[in-house]
Amino acid sequence: MTTTIAAFDRIGEENAFAVLARATALANEGRNIINLGIGQPDFQTPPHIVEAAIKALRDGHHGYTPATGILPLREAVAVDLHRRLNVEVSPDDVLIVPGGKVTMFMAILMFGEPGMEIMYPDPGFPIYRSMIEFTGATPVPIPIREENGFAFSAAETLSLIAPKTRLIIINSPANPTGGVTPASEIDALVDGLAAHPDVAIMSDEIYGQMTFDGLEHRSLLTYPSIRDRLILLDGWSKTYAMTGWRMGYSVWPADLYDKARKLAVNSYSCVNAAAQFAGLAALTGPQECIDEMMQAFAARRTIVVDGLNALPGMSCVNPEGAFYAFPNIKATGWQAKPLASALLEEAGVAVIGGPDFGILGEGYLRLSYANSAENIERALERMADFLTAHPEVAAGD
Ligand code: PLP
Repeated sequence: MTTTIAAFDRIGEENAFAVLARATALANEGRNIINLGIGQPDFQTPPHIVEAAIKALRDGHHGYTPATGILPLREAVAVDLHRRLNVEVSPDDVLIVPGGKVTMFMAILMFGEPGMEIMYPDPGFPIYRSMIEFTGATPVPIPIREENGFAFSAAETLSLIAPKTRLIIINSPANPTGGVTPASEIDALVDGLAAHPDVAIMSDEIYGQMTFDGLEHRSLLTYPSIRDRLILLDGWSKTYAMTGWRMGYSVWPADLYDKARKLAVNSYSCVNAAAQFAGLAALTGPQECIDEMMQAFAARRTIVVDGLNALPGMSCVNPEGAFYAFPNIKATGWQAKPLASALLEEAGVAVIGGPDFGILGEGYLRLSYANSAENIERALERMADFLTAHPEVAAGD
């Protein structure tokens, strides 16, 4: 068949999966590869969550559930949001979805059409732009700058809103930079949005419980003035080390909720029933597992940031959230993607080139420090050896 479907010339991908595949292929050939590429916690899902899924299967939860998710789980999400953020959310506004990605897929599909604009962070999660382009809408990047600690600027974001802007995508704590936008900047954004009442906001808060040094996460959900046009994206993947379970949720304004429900009915019908019971156990069970994971990430963050700052030609700001470091490599003389590729092929270290997250990602690499401290140290040694062995490139030749 030779049919071309224009939208598929525009849709993108997540290169982290291609890097993972290449890293796995090299490992299968017998090479020792340290993977700092893929964005998933290296911890196992806590046992009480796994047991809840096994019990659900044994108890006979084998059929469809409501498309929106089982009520106890939607109630548990509402209770959890109240506990964490002190906001009132009705379980009727909560949609259980198969992974955080599905919320962005739905929201962008709802608002994206030719002639309309959708704003998204650059560098940012690659699926935002990919999906915007797929719908035919015009992607408008919101620059995320190192000199701003990889936070977004409210003033710059507001200045990019045009009459055709339909949706603004916000992500803090952020992938790929680990940047956390200060509460004052989020206040300023919300204040400014009052002048644009027809613009919807999707806030991707999948790393909302992953901040360091006691820094408080400021959720867009806590602003009543935008609740009627805010879509909250969250889920279990990162917080509870559950990427493979495909468990996410969103909170929708009432009049968008039914559109999202219809998209669910038209695509996946409902989320895997046993996984929903696992998600319920995660929210209602002990929360110490999150603290334990974050303590491990905090220790590794120190190793990775100190190590990167000691490498020739690299400098790295201290990320305040998530589990990513985004070092500036401009002084190495390398372009980001060739460097990422050479590090994998020659040094056995998988990292992602910044341009895989947007045009403004050139000059940076993303390292996911979801790996053991020993492996991170070894990866940094390999990177140091590699950069020392390529002085001609480091000199900018
Ligand atoms: N949003 C951001 C910013 C992410 O980094 C990711 C995953 O890497 C997702 C959403 C998707 O999460 P999930 O695996 O639950 O689909």
